[in-house]
Amino acid sequence: MLNKLLAQADSIAIGGHVRPDGDCVGSCMGLYQYIRETYVDKEVDVYLEDIPDVHKFIEASKDIRHEIEHGKIYDLFICLDCGDEDRLGFSLPLFQSAKRTFCVDHHVSNREFADDNYIFPDASSTSELIYDLIDKDRISMQVAEALYLGIVHDTGVFQYSCASPATFEAAADLLRKGIDGPKIIEDTFYEKTYAQNQVLGRALLESILLLDGRCIASYITKEQMEFYGVDAKDLDGIVSQLRVTKGIEAALFMYELEPNVYKVSLRSKDTVDVSRIAQYFGGGGHKKAAGFSMAGTPHDVMNNVIRQIALQL
Ligand code: 5GP
Repeated sequence: MLNKLLAQADSIAIGGHVRPDGDCVGSCMGLYQYIRETYVDKEVDVYLEDIPDVHKFIEASKDIRHEIEHGKIYDLFICLDCGDEDRLGFSLPLFQSAKRTFCVDHHVSNREFADDNYIFPDASSTSELIYDLIDKDRISMQVAEALYLGIVHDTGVFQYSCASPATFEAAADLLRKGIDGPKIIEDTFYEKTYAQNQVLGRALLESILLLDGRCIASYITKEQMEFYGVDAKDLDGIVSQLRVTKGIEAALFMYELEPNVYKVSLRSKDTVDVSRIAQYFGGGGHKKAAGFSMAGTPHDVMNNVIRQIALQL
């Protein structure tokens, strides 16, 4: 499917979701590099918001465009790891004006909004889906590096239940391309700056147990983020740490996106389907990891979410 669409297009744009994470960066950069190397005569551009510094080891990330050229129209817009049009952010006009659109995603909340859609909610990551779609003989080390980053990120280093035998097979094949797998894991998943650790510590210290100890919640205000000198990209991993608390079924972490607007991240173990809660509040995600934004005081936002979690316990 992908190769057919690529063959029919002379100009191709790739875009991912706002606040790109490892899988979004990995799938976009892996596909971008693949098209550059495989379809050398085609024009291909990649559009993403600023990516986390730790992902900038991907050489081609310097080509990422952060702005769109007014009036530019592509033959094909490929939307990756993005469940609805609005999550495309600044690249939305390019999606809307493209002659054809294609979406590859693994979010259960995906609205199949493109002309062609390749959506597999059971897949570990969009990067694994890109691996499925591309010609395996043409995976260079650069393509492998990016896709491996995406798989590692969305499986929590192969620990979540979304990591299937097929995920391990894809990862093994990517490793055989000669990439430094342990370094990607260490540098992009585990390593944290001193400030990130301080914020993590604060979020854990101030976390509260709710619903008879079956839910844990914490938040950081904009003022606190400024105090520690961190931004949204630095908060990755906090909610996962809350989730490992013994006895809990759901974890909630939120940070102030703008005055009195909170970005909420939800994680769950077995009982709670957090994608349902996120969709209820206009967001999306997966059964065990989802998110959305909501206006209100931290206490109001938290209470609203906790009420929805309680309904599933
Ligand atoms: P995180 O909590 O790490 O930001 O996101 C967890 C999952 O939920 C990711 O797959 C992410 O793409 C999705 N997600 C987070 N926030 C939103 C949102 O506001 N809207 C939608 N549709 N999905 C979101």
